[in-house]
Amino acid sequence: MKNEELKNRDLSVLWHPCTQMKDHETLPLIPIKKAHGVWLEDYEGNKLIDAVSSWWVNIFGHTNKYINERIKKQLDTLEHVILAGFTHEGVVELSERLVKLTPKGLEKCFYSDNGSSAVEVALKMSYHAHLNDGISGKNVFVSLTNSYHGETIGALSVGDVELYKQTYEPLLLKTLQTPVPSNMSIEAAKMAADKFEKLCKEKSDEISAIILEPLVQGAGYMHMYHAEFLVLVRQICDKYNVHLIADEVMVGFGRTGELFACEKANITPDFLVLSKGLTGGYLPLSVVLTTDEIYAKFYCDYNEHKAFLHSHSYTGNALACAAANATLDIFENDNVIQNNKKISKYMGDKLEKFLELENVASIRQTGMICVVELKGYEASERIGLKVYQYALNNEVLLRPLGHVIYFMPPYVITNKEIDKMMNVAFEAIEAL
Ligand code: PMP
Repeated sequence: MKNEELKNRDLSVLWHPCTQMKDHETLPLIPIKKAHGVWLEDYEGNKLIDAVSSWWVNIFGHTNKYINERIKKQLDTLEHVILAGFTHEGVVELSERLVKLTPKGLEKCFYSDNGSSAVEVALKMSYHAHLNDGISGKNVFVSLTNSYHGETIGALSVGDVELYKQTYEPLLLKTLQTPVPSNMSIEAAKMAADKFEKLCKEKSDEISAIILEPLVQGAGYMHMYHAEFLVLVRQICDKYNVHLIADEVMVGFGRTGELFACEKANITPDFLVLSKGLTGGYLPLSVVLTTDEIYAKFYCDYNEHKAFLHSHSYTGNALACAAANATLDIFENDNVIQNNKKISKYMGDKLEKFLELENVASIRQTGMICVVELKGYEASERIGLKVYQYALNNEVLLRPLGHVIYFMPPYVITNKEIDKMMNVAFEAIEAL
C-alpha cells in the first residue's frame, strides 16, 4: 500500500535525475523504506542488493553503525558554520588526514559539495593560477575522449559523452579532446600519450590543464586504461606547463584497488578532485587538493586581486566532515584496501564465467569495478533496461550503461552476496 501511495505522490511532484519521466508510465519507481549493508528494502519488505553503491557513493554499506554514531555525535555539537572567516575541528582534522593520505605534494584542501562543483573549482583554479603567473592566453581545457566530469556547464564542457553533452553544445566552453588509450595495454597508453604530446606541442600556449579520470572512465561505459598513461601525461604536463587535474570523484577511496588511483602510477596531479566515497556515501561533500606551489600563486595582498573568490554555501559542512572522518577511520582501522583485494579476486574469478555467453563481447576489471560488455544490440533496443528489470525482479539493483553491465558494490559485500549479484546478472544476460 505504502509503496503505491509513495509512487503516486512522488510522480505528481518530483522530477528525477537522469530520467525520461515518461518511462515511469511503465517502469515502476521504487520507494525505499530503509537500507542496511548492501541491502535496500521497500515498504513491502522486498529487498535489493545495491550493486551500484547508490551511484558509486556508498563504500561501507548503508546505515553503517560507526558512521551513524559519528554523525549523531556531531549533530548535537555543530551542524554547519560558514567557512569564510571561520573553521571547525572536523574540517581541520579531515584536511590534515587528506593531505597525509593523498599523493605526496598535495598540501591544501578547498571544499565544495558535489563532484561537478569540485571540477569547476579545479578548472577555475588552474586558469587563475596561470593568470596570477602573468600568463593570460591559457584559456582552453583538454580532456580525454569518452570522459565524464559532471553535469554543470563547465564540467559538461570537459566531458565527452554525447548522450549528456550534445543537447547543450551551444552553451558550452570550447574544449579540446585528446584520445583516451583504446584499451588496457601499455602500447595503447603510449600511443594516446603521443597524441597528447603532439597537441601540447601545437597548442600549449592556450592549454591551461588536462582533466582526466585516472584508470577508469565511469559514465564513459566503464572504459579502462593502463596506469602508464598517467605517468606519461604527468611528464608531458611538466614539459609544457600544463596542469594535470585528476578527477577521482568515482575512482577515489579504494575503488581501483589503491586508496587513490594516482598511486598506481605513482604520480601527483596538480589538482586532485574527490567526492562520492569521501563521506562513505552519506552526505554531499567534495574537495580539491592542490600543491603549496599553486596555493602560493594566490597568496598576496588583497588589492593585488589574486584571491580565489569562489564559494559554495555548504563549503566544509560539519556533518559531512564528520561522515568523512568516520569513513577515514574505517580505512585506517579495518584494513580495507587489503580486504578489497580478496573481494576483487573473488569477483574477478566469477567474472570469467560471463565469457561463456554468446552475447558477451568482453569482460574487464580494475579493483572493485567489474564489467561485462555485451555485443550484437542496437542502442534503440535499450538492452541495459532489460537487464535492469530482470535484476530488479531478482533482488539486485544493477544500472547498466547502455550495453555495458557493471558491478560496483559497497566494500562490505560478502561472497554469498557477490554470488547472488553476479548469478542474477548472468541469468539476465542469458535471458536476453
Ligand atoms: N566526475 C566523475 C568522474 C564522476 O563520475 C561524477 C559523477 N558520476 C562527477 C564528476 C560529478 O559528480 P556529481 O554527480 O557529484 O556532481
